[in-house]
Amino acid sequence: MKATRLHGFKDLFHPETEKLRLVESKTKEVFGRFGFSEIIIPILELSGVYSTGLGDTTDIVQKEMYTFETKGGERVSMRPEGTAGVVRAFIEHSLHRKSPVTKLYYSGEMFRHEKPQEGRQRSFNQIGAELFGSRDPLADSEIIAMLWLAITELGLSDHVELELNSIGKPAERERYKKALTDFLSPNKDSLCENCQNRLGMNPLRILDCKTGTCREMTSEIPFSIRDYLSEQSSEHLDALTSSLGEKSIPYRLNPRIVRGLDYYTDTVFEITTDKLGSQNAVAAGGRYDLLVERMGGPETPAVGFAMGVERILLLLEKTGTRRNSPGKKQLVCVIHIGEEARGEAARIANDLRKKGMRVETEYENKSLKSQMRKANRTGAAHSIIIGEDELRKKVFLLRNMRTGEEKAFPLKKLADLRGHGDFRKLL
Ligand code: ATP
Ligand code: MG
Repeated sequence: MKATRLHGFKDLFHPETEKLRLVESKTKEVFGRFGFSEIIIPILELSGVYSTGLGDTTDIVQKEMYTFETKGGERVSMRPEGTAGVVRAFIEHSLHRKSPVTKLYYSGEMFRHEKPQEGRQRSFNQIGAELFGSRDPLADSEIIAMLWLAITELGLSDHVELELNSIGKPAERERYKKALTDFLSPNKDSLCENCQNRLGMNPLRILDCKTGTCREMTSEIPFSIRDYLSEQSSEHLDALTSSLGEKSIPYRLNPRIVRGLDYYTDTVFEITTDKLGSQNAVAAGGRYDLLVERMGGPETPAVGFAMGVERILLLLEKTGTRRNSPGKKQLVCVIHIGEEARGEAARIANDLRKKGMRVETEYENKSLKSQMRKANRTGAAHSIIIGEDELRKKVFLLRNMRTGEEKAFPLKKLADLRGHGDFRKLL
C-alpha cells in the first residue's frame, strides 16, 4: 500500500513552512507588545469542552469535529478552534485569582471536517488571542487594535477591511432570531438545505450563508439586529467605534456579521478581503461574556479573536506582498576531489557551520563536475575545493561562483573566518 495523506490535509515544504513561521513570529511579537503571553493547550480535549463551549447547534459541533472514543471510553475531539480550550485552561488553573485581567495568545493546528477548497482545509493553523476580565469597550478596542497592527505589519492592511457589528445579549438576540424566523419561514423552500436546517436551530447563521439564493432572501430583510439592541449594547458599540476612530483604525459597521459560534455577546468582528473568493475572512472574533461561566468558571467577561494563518499566506501571495518572504542566507559549498579529501571536506563544513554559516557538502564520492553542478544549482556564492594536492600542501581552493575566479589559501585561514563577508573579502 502506498501511503497517502488524508483528503483536505496538506503537507507544507520550504519556503511555505518558513513563511508560515515568519507570519507566526511577527504576529506573536506584536501581541507581546500588548502584554499578551503564550499559552500552549492540548490538541485533544473531552468533546464536552467544545459542545458546551461552542454550543450544540453550531456547525462546528454539529458536523465538523473529529470525534472518537479513546481506549478508556472517553469521548474526545481534535480541537476545531482555540477559545474553548483556553477558557477550559483559564478555569482549571483559576487564572482569575492571579490577576484581574489575563491576556493570552495561542497558535497551532485546528481540525474541522468540512469541504476542502481554496482557503478551506481540514487541518489549518490559527493564531488567536483572548483577553479575560474586562467588560469595558476599551478592551474590545485594544484587542482589535492589536489584530489590526499585526495585519498592518504583515503588509496587508490595504487589502482587508475590518467589519464590525453587535449581536447584543441572548435575550435581545432571541427576539431578533424570532423575527428572522418569522420573516424567512414562509419562503423556507428557497433557502439552501443547510439554511433550512439552520432556520429551526441557528437562524442567525443564515445571514452568513454564501449561497446566492440565501443571500438574495436575506438582503430583503427590512430590519437588522441593531433594531433589537438594548441601550447598554448600543452604548457599548458606540464607545468601541469612537475608540477605534481615535486610534485611526478604519472599520465598517455591517449588521450581517453574526459569527457562527453561540458564545458571542455584543461585539463581533471580521477582517475580510475581496481577494480570496468566498473564503473571505482572514480573522474573526468578538466578545464572549457568558462563556467562562457556561463552562463552569466564575462570571468573567472576555473578548478575543482567531486569525487563519493559511488564508494570510494566500493573501500575501495574491497581493504580491513580499515583506514576509524569508531572507536567503548565503551558502558555501565544500567540494572534495577524490576519496582521501572526503573526510576533510566534511570536517571543514562542520567547522564553518559552527561559526553560523550555511554550508552544503557531498556525502558520497562524486565527481568534481557533479559537485560543481550542485554548487551552481543550489546558488552557492563561494565553493571551497579540497583535493589530494591541497591536502598535502595544507591549503584550500576558494572559488567565487559568480566570477569563476579561484585562489589558494592556507587551511588554517579558515579558522579566522567569521562569516560569509570574510569570503567576499578574500575573493
Ligand atoms: P468561515 O466563515 O470562513 O468558515 P469561520 O467562521 O468558520 O470561518 P472561525 O471559526 O471564526 O471561522 O475561525 C477564524 C479564522 O480561521 C477564519 O476567519 C479563517 O481565516 C480561518 N479558518 C476557519 N476555518 C478554516 C478552514 N477550514 N481552513 C482554513 N482556514 C480556516
Ligand atoms: Mg467555518
